[in-house]
Amino acid sequence: MKLVSYYFQTDVNRQLKRGVLLDGGVLPVTGDFNALGETDLANLQAQLERANGAGLVPLEQVQLGAPLPNPPKIICVGLNYSDHAEETGMTPPPTPLLFAKWSNTLIGPDAPVFLDGTSQQVDYEAELVFVIGKPAYKVPEEHAFEYIAGYMCANDVSARDLQFATPGNQWSRSKSLDGFCPIGPYLATSDEIADPHNLRIACRVNQQTLQDSNTSKLIFKIPTLLSFLSQGMTLQPGDIVLTGTPAGVGFTRKPPLFLKPGDVCEIEIEGLGTLRNNFVER
Ligand code: ZN
Repeated sequence: MKLVSYYFQTDVNRQLKRGVLLDGGVLPVTGDFNALGETDLANLQAQLERANGAGLVPLEQVQLGAPLPNPPKIICVGLNYSDHAEETGMTPPPTPLLFAKWSNTLIGPDAPVFLDGTSQQVDYEAELVFVIGKPAYKVPEEHAFEYIAGYMCANDVSARDLQFATPGNQWSRSKSLDGFCPIGPYLATSDEIADPHNLRIACRVNQQTLQDSNTSKLIFKIPTLLSFLSQGMTLQPGDIVLTGTPAGVGFTRKPPLFLKPGDVCEIEIEGLGTLRNNFVER
């Protein structure tokens, strides 16, 4: 299933509803956005089967929002692709390098990212996200996939001038400006993705491909990340983990390339659709 949030184009309050994306439209379903356990997903599947194609809302009538509008945690992993670590000249860390994005960063597909002049060096990062389906605490690697509800695309938008302004760097601030975590367009449940470690992952800005890699280049694979994260920190249903970005980000390019008002950024991952956001002046 492809899970989405959506609101009706005509709804001035933009009230988000839960749906399943199907060919030709969105099927409204009930249940909390973060209800992603096996029973919850079976329940959604049953709603799909009961509807049997009826009640589909045409895509022209809706705008999709962030597939999970309210994840309890937004966890990010830095320097987790071999090709990206290489281009930055940084040594990959011996254990996963973690930082956070706050809830003010979260936006959905097609929502604008506002540039208000706080940063002059706004950068893109295409990332694969995994989503937690049930409480995870001290999970051994070999059981990690049992805790994953699904996957989606994210853009880990980063203000490089803020990130590198402080000795030791300032990851969470530089990656937590308003709107700096676009996710979507949908959450694909695990059964849709045969191997999350073999997906083409790309970023385009104004149609120009700037990142083009494969999730096979992840240094710490998903089971290692989930097991590591769950030591002493309980992961909750709806928590999202951004797994890091491959080579080709703007600040390592010669000359460097940063996002400016009018730019359109697209993150595309095989099987997970295309996440498109405009960058606009605030
Ligand atoms: Zn990142």
